[in-house]
Amino acid sequence: MNMRRGIVFGHIDFERILDAVKKSIEFAVMTGIKPLPYHIGSFITCEEVIHFQKMGGHVFFCIADLEAYAINRIPLRESYKISIDNLADLLALGLEHKRTYIYRQSEFINVLKLANIFSSHVTKRTLEAIYGERPFGHYMSALIQAADILQPQLKEFGGPKPTITPVGADQAPHSRLTRDLARKEVFRREYGFILPSFTFHTLIRGLDGSDKMSKRNPRSYFAIDEGEDSIVYKVKNAFTGGRETAKLQRKLGGQPEICPIYELEVYFFTRDDEKLRRIYFDCKNGDILCGEHKDEILRRILVFRKDHLKRKRKKLNVAQRIIRGNHLYG
Ligand code: SF4
Repeated sequence: MNMRRGIVFGHIDFERILDAVKKSIEFAVMTGIKPLPYHIGSFITCEEVIHFQKMGGHVFFCIADLEAYAINRIPLRESYKISIDNLADLLALGLEHKRTYIYRQSEFINVLKLANIFSSHVTKRTLEAIYGERPFGHYMSALIQAADILQPQLKEFGGPKPTITPVGADQAPHSRLTRDLARKEVFRREYGFILPSFTFHTLIRGLDGSDKMSKRNPRSYFAIDEGEDSIVYKVKNAFTGGRETAKLQRKLGGQPEICPIYELEVYFFTRDDEKLRRIYFDCKNGDILCGEHKDEILRRILVFRKDHLKRKRKKLNVAQRIIRGNHLYG
């Protein structure tokens, strides 16, 4: 669905993954998520990862606790607790834990070693050109992420092998850094890395009309296990592509192209393309008003929330066991 709708709008070397699927060659799916409560936008990456797993990929799920510390100042102990919750979300969405390698960055020596080795081959000037002037921890996080992406290709994991990493559009420079490292002669000789593949997805618009849902801006998103009242409040007060008055909207129609409520339908809540097309034209023709649409989607959001939380509660024990065990196949 994400590719059909243009949510996944680009890729680098995705053909390599399709080829691996066709020839039944082992491939890895890499995802690294900072332990922060998931918002509905985070589910898009999760769904992509699960989709690639269903295509036959072996998932590497990295809990990016060092990055969360470097960038968001989240203590490692706090990250540990949140990561149990994140993993339970992923399992509730359908991730097969028996075919997933789960680890915390701070505990995984392979990744730290690789990041350290990479650091000898990147200059501060290169990192500044990509990320701007940042505290050194940000640069170190970038190298750790590159190590996360390339480590499924180490011999310990049966590498080298094709690797796919789904990322947001804002991560394109990072994918280039990782590929530049992978193609360096010194690493090719030592590790034989196959250049990693990436898919890029657009970022869902913030409920307040901002460019994207951001955990730094609580008005821009809702988390699925946020209180029901809070979700209702945020959706009811969301920015829309509606007109100033109902009369004007009936006459001119709405603007789904700039509407975060419509984007919730596109990204997540309307799977059926024909239904989505109807919503689009009902809005364009002024046949629905924003208040009605918000009430209607809210009903579906709350049903999804209830079902998801029920599934998630059942997965919490498994998630706890896996995270406690640290870097285990579930
Ligand atoms: S009717 Fe719906 S899709 Fe159209 S602008 Fe209003 S909320 Fe957005």
